[in-house]
Amino acid sequence: MTAADPSAPVRTLKGVGPALTEQLGRMGITRLLDLLLHLPLRYQDRSRLIPLGSLVVEQEGLVEGQIVDARLAYGRRRSLVVTLEDGTGFLRLRYFYFSRAQENALRPGNHVRAFGQARLSREGLEMIHPEYRTYPSPPPAPEPELTPIYPTTRGLGQTRLRGLIDQLLSREWPESDGTPYSDLRFLHRPPADASSEEIAEAQARIALDELTAYYLVMRRRQSDRAGIRTLALPQAAHLGRVLLRHLGFRLTAAQRRVTTEVLEDLAQDRPMLRLLQGDVGSGKTVVAAFAAIRAAEHGAQTALMAPTEILAEQHYLNFVAWLEPLGIQVVLLAGSQTAGERKRVVGAIESGEALVAVGTHALFQDQVRFARLALTVVDEQHRFGVHQRMALKDKGTLPHQLVMTATPIPRTLTMALYADMDVSTLDELPAGRQPITTVAVADDRRHEVITRVAAEIEAGRQVYWVCPLIEISDALEAMSVEELEPLLAEGLPGIRIGVLHGRMKSAEKADVMSRFKGGELELLLATTVVEVGVDVPNATLMVIENPERMGLAQLHQLRGRVGRGGHASHCVLLYATPLSETGRQRLSVIRESQDGFQIAEEDLKIRGPGDLMGTRQTGEQQFRIADLRTHAHLIPEVVRRGDTLLAEDPSTAARLLGIWAPADSGHAGV
Ligand code: ADP
Ligand code: MG
Repeated sequence: MTAADPSAPVRTLKGVGPALTEQLGRMGITRLLDLLLHLPLRYQDRSRLIPLGSLVVEQEGLVEGQIVDARLAYGRRRSLVVTLEDGTGFLRLRYFYFSRAQENALRPGNHVRAFGQARLSREGLEMIHPEYRTYPSPPPAPEPELTPIYPTTRGLGQTRLRGLIDQLLSREWPESDGTPYSDLRFLHRPPADASSEEIAEAQARIALDELTAYYLVMRRRQSDRAGIRTLALPQAAHLGRVLLRHLGFRLTAAQRRVTTEVLEDLAQDRPMLRLLQGDVGSGKTVVAAFAAIRAAEHGAQTALMAPTEILAEQHYLNFVAWLEPLGIQVVLLAGSQTAGERKRVVGAIESGEALVAVGTHALFQDQVRFARLALTVVDEQHRFGVHQRMALKDKGTLPHQLVMTATPIPRTLTMALYADMDVSTLDELPAGRQPITTVAVADDRRHEVITRVAAEIEAGRQVYWVCPLIEISDALEAMSVEELEPLLAEGLPGIRIGVLHGRMKSAEKADVMSRFKGGELELLLATTVVEVGVDVPNATLMVIENPERMGLAQLHQLRGRVGRGGHASHCVLLYATPLSETGRQRLSVIRESQDGFQIAEEDLKIRGPGDLMGTRQTGEQQFRIADLRTHAHLIPEVVRRGDTLLAEDPSTAARLLGIWAPADSGHAGV
């Protein structure tokens, strides 16, 4: 057998037609190699049968037995209840959705093998909707492998994916092209006795390759950028000094230092790519304003992108206040504008009359042509993901870029993830900031918190109340706006409550936000849309529902909405009971620290290497295999190895790039 070609397209596999090609493509899988690199998220142990008599609550596993009873139960909802017996004990399986054919197959006398999780119901242990198969006689012995569970996409089931991967694994792969075939094979089909350590080690070896490739891409981008020329913006009209005088506050030493770093970059004809990280409230916006002023002094334009309309509007108002007195025209591009307004704004950008344009990322995507774009500022870049470095191009030249984030990135991670950027850090908050006291309160004491809110509003302050959901959900036991709104209205009569969530139109959101900012609304009931950057100095109390469900970085961001004015501020973490051990630890980190960098480090520690069966998260994945929670400790090695490869072994470097970043291995992508 000759070795298969890893770069052959997936449609060369048996049974892969246009529809499947499209589904795989949605997951970034186009080559056979991509499919090989598509590793299980976790494994289920279906190699061992659990005797029914020894099954315990919450245990997930494979069971089998003969059906001794099957009947319809009429509780709150009709269900089919099937009782199994295996000589050691009994177990009920319960189905709410079933067809006539299923009802027929699940009849007494037949045998069933099922995989699911045991739960405690009023009548004892049961499995709800386990996967199952029926047999007329006792089933054959189970498969001696762990069952892989793959990340998948709509319309593509586990069985189908497993089948495709089986096809791949049955092939012969090239001997030594740098791809870790034996680790991949092992991770796709680990034997039933594989230990979690063995699995974790194989994952780590592959993650090291992937992270190294990523680091190489970043380093290549950095050197590519060094060869590009852009508009140099040296010191000119000193308009920045005018702003300094009418700003109303003194810059912190950190702001002065960082502003100097940025302005020195801008003076070069090599495009800047600088990450400005600074904790919530450290005053990043004004640094961006000084950069925009520098561009404007040269008659050149700045585009400022924010992740939400609310934030774009807020930046716009700040920039108008700061820059228009200097004669610099600022415009806002917002989704809520009428076609006429939008046309006028776009016209001012295209003519070069507007020197600063503020808007959301989405708005800048649809081809606004700047007359003379010299600088782009991207705020809260973590929202856009690591891979999506935005590069607004102005007729082919690359502008200077300033990227701002309040998500503190542990230093080890910046070394590799941002290896293409220079990093500035605002490590100081403006003087006079009030510390925020944080308390954790069980949600059965919500009424006490409501009393506290009433007092705060009575004293003339404003309050945020944040919850995770918009609507009441059957599936998720978490607080929703829908449930909370009447509760608050009843508990806080006469108080003007505004509601803000992601499903409202942007004009509505902007309206609510500006009424809250103006003090007309006293309480803002919101989902986590207020997480990023919103600035209302008179708000002094932040109540967060279900904090146990949120990430530490998110909690820190939310809390940072208060403590922005001269008044003492508070944050109440209203958690649902019972709280798990990690939940308790996480809340105590937030309670005890107000330092975003420290919180980020703790977060990494708590989530730590974690356990194998289920650590790799679905959700937004930046890497195929590496997971920064698990693999952060590899980073120093990634940097060492990457630097060595660049200096001594460019062909291995090129091979790694070919495997992991085919799009980046050929061209100079900046
Ligand atoms: P972030 O870094 O979170 O984006 P902002 O730029 O929104 O912070 O600044 C937070 C608030 O602090 C704003 O109201 C801003 O005007 C104010 N601010 C910024 N710098 C200073 C300073 N040096 N002294 C006092 N207030 C400041
Ligand atoms: Mg900000």
